[in-house]
Amino acid sequence: MTNFLTEEQQIWKDTVERWVDQEVGRDYIRKCDVERTFPFEAYEKAAQMGFHRLIIPESDGGDGGDIFSYALMVEAMAKYGLDFAAAITGSTFTAMNLVLHGTPEQKRQYLEPFMRGDIRLPISISEPGAGSDAANTQTRAERDGDHWVINGQKLWCSGAGNKGAVIIMLVRTEKKADKRDGLSVFIIPNTTPGLTIRPLNTLARRSITSTEIFLDNVRVHESQVLGKPGQGWKIIGGEHLQIERIAIAAGYAGNAQGAVNDALAYAHQRVQFGQPIFEFQVIRHMLADMQTQTDAARLMAYRAADLASRGQPCRKEVAMAKLFCSETLQSVSRMGMQIMGGHGMLPDADMERYFREGMQSTVGGGTSQIQRTMIAQEMRLR
Ligand SMILES: Cc1cc2nc3c(=O)[nH]c(=O)nc-3n(C[C@H](O)[C@H](O)[C@H](O)COP(=O)(O)OP(=O)(O)OC[C@H]3O[C@@H](n4cnc5c(N)ncnc54)[C@H](O)[C@@H]3O)c2cc1C
Repeated sequence: MTNFLTEEQQIWKDTVERWVDQEVGRDYIRKCDVERTFPFEAYEKAAQMGFHRLIIPESDGGDGGDIFSYALMVEAMAKYGLDFAAAITGSTFTAMNLVLHGTPEQKRQYLEPFMRGDIRLPISISEPGAGSDAANTQTRAERDGDHWVINGQKLWCSGAGNKGAVIIMLVRTEKKADKRDGLSVFIIPNTTPGLTIRPLNTLARRSITSTEIFLDNVRVHESQVLGKPGQGWKIIGGEHLQIERIAIAAGYAGNAQGAVNDALAYAHQRVQFGQPIFEFQVIRHMLADMQTQTDAARLMAYRAADLASRGQPCRKEVAMAKLFCSETLQSVSRMGMQIMGGHGMLPDADMERYFREGMQSTVGGGTSQIQRTMIAQEMRLR
């Protein structure tokens, strides 16, 4: 066992990392960020490697891997940026909603093409008035025979405008006293009439591209409801967010390690006052802090992924991992920016991309404040 991984787990992580270095490369990842283009070629290559089917059960045509292996894959994939890892692996956590709640026909229509790399599955929870208060969904679906007609506005959905995107969307189907009741999940291909999807000029997530979605009398057949009407919050608020947060926590730890590696290499190479800046104790201590925080973050992500893999309750540990890994990416990339001086400001240095991802990481997927609230809820003496 190395780094708390079994030999098999280490080999798997190394395999994905080698794939990123040899088949993708940091230049491609940087180019996608700078040009704000989705990494379609890498997504297809990932499908050919079987990455999309890793945790889909064998009974549904997947490889039946566990969440720990998925976390290792995201960690390795995020070495040169969380956005790239999210573009390639983010559809997987949404696909698990199809695994858990999809009908055989929905699986045939969406899970199989996803595993082949033909479609992507963005998740659309947030709205202008429903951010941290995610259950405050106002986008409304009304029944019309065997169809539903949806009107409203969703916000931030990452990847909704890309070719082959099938949006998994949280929508209100009934007004109830408890806002978490009366919500449903719809499967909506982004070519459906009545949808207007606009890209947002965000600081981070430039490659996957976050969007706003306007729904104007969007008609979807009742067979496009995932699970039963009214089960929306159970699906999204519980199971979905748990696996999403484990994945992104592992990705933040992987991206933080990339930031440490780049800063360390730069500190050895950059000469000032006749010596590499690594020789200055202040720089070394920054690097020591960066590696220590990153190791701690990685271990927290592993603990959450391990508990989830074994089906153990882990609400607190997942929130802790999301909180600590995101704040680590933010603080490590900020120190990386300082170590790189002016050079860090250039896209070629990659550090400014990690730094931007760090700023997004404590907001997306549930803010740091919300993670702390959840941790404290679990700490209440009963
Ligand atoms: C680039 C990007 C990509 C995204 N991608 C997606 C996506 O693909 N799909 C999707 O559904 N969503 C996505 N999101 C939305 C993201 O999940 C929300 O931004 C996040 O949940 C926070 O919501 P908000 O931005 O409305 O902030 P708000 O909820 O308005 O929060 C503002 C501030 O108030 C604090 N706050 C709010 N409520 C409380 C409270 N109860 N206690 C203490 N503090 C509180 C917050 O912590 C924060 O500091 C994305 C966001 C970004 C920026």
